[in-house]
Amino acid sequence: MKIDLTPILNRRVPVISFDFTVSPESVPEAAEISEEITLTEAISVKGRITDNDGYMKLSAEVSVGYKTFCDRCLAEINDRAEFEFSRFVTLTTAVLEGVDEDEMLVVKEGGIDFDREIIEELSLELPVYHLCEDDCPGLCSVCGKRLDGSCGCEKKKEIDPRMETFKKLLEKMDK
Ligand SMILES: [Zn+2]
Ligand SMILES: [Zn+2]
Repeated sequence: MKIDLTPILNRRVPVISFDFTVSPESVPEAAEISEEITLTEAISVKGRITDNDGYMKLSAEVSVGYKTFCDRCLAEINDRAEFEFSRFVTLTTAVLEGVDEDEMLVVKEGGIDFDREIIEELSLELPVYHLCEDDCPGLCSVCGKRLDGSCGCEKKKEIDPRMETFKKLLEKMDK
């Protein structure tokens, strides 16, 4: 969403607050966030832009719910991503001393629109690995059920005869 900065630029107010949502469908880059993750709501963006005599600073809290699946047992996981988003807001692309280009937002036609930057930052904040719980046991290799001891396969755990031959072969090669 575009935020009009003219009240700050005209020095009428020192702070502009905002509270809006970014619908992932409105930003093409959102489709590439992750194959395994589906956002379950619009991204909430709440914050303010302050005039600091010579430069402006934007800070926001970003929050969104998402759905994914456990890497080990494939159970559905519903979680939230929450992070701080901050940028220097400048009138020209001239680099501020000591500030990286990707920490800056440049004012265009009296305002800024940083939906794309929010999506980019979100894709960095989302976890790469997903576990339903830290010590998820995964799936039983025999019956495919979650390995929580209820399937009873463990007792009859036997080495596949074909694997046994393979193991012997490996042992031979080792010598
Ligand atoms: Zn799991
Ligand atoms: Zn089993």
